[in-house]
Amino acid sequence: AQQSQEGPGEQVERTLVLVKPDGVARGLVGEVLRRVEAKGYRLVALDLRTPTRDLLSRHYAEHEGKPFYEPLVAFMSSGPVVAAVVEGQRCVEGFRSLAGATEPTTAAPGTIRGDLGRDWGLAVQQNLVHGSDSPGSADRELALWFPSL
Ligand code: GDP
Ligand code: MG
Repeated sequence: AQQSQEGPGEQVERTLVLVKPDGVARGLVGEVLRRVEAKGYRLVALDLRTPTRDLLSRHYAEHEGKPFYEPLVAFMSSGPVVAAVVEGQRCVEGFRSLAGATEPTTAAPGTIRGDLGRDWGLAVQQNLVHGSDSPGSADRELALWFPSL
């Protein structure tokens, strides 16, 4: 349902991008969205909200039981996040490239996490952004965050 066609052979997909509470608090929403748009991706929906623990427990179900799970949910529900539906060719993989590796200290320069992130959260990596890790995850996450879309 998330896939659409843009001309012959061009596979356009959608991904969920979150600017996490640290990114919103640090005033980096514009910088993240600038990079998304500069890459040529399109914003389909945009929302500022503080996610409930219920939404986050479903969003992060794969991490339940891991040591960083509880701190992660607490951090993610600690303040507003910006949730964006982003559309473009291979944008799931493409946004993961823009975001960089999970750990800000070792994320490559040129990426959002590498350029702007820092390991100042002890219990959880406060790494500024989330991006769906596969088209299947994107479908699942978009249904959670934007059920009406
Ligand atoms: P992502 O897909 O790159 O965001 O990483 P994961 O899906 O593996 O983890 C989800 C989020 O949990 C990450 O973005 C971090 O905020 C946090 N996280 C993941 N792994 C660790 C870890 O080993 N330690 C800590 N403290 N936080 C982690
Ligand atoms: Mg992940």
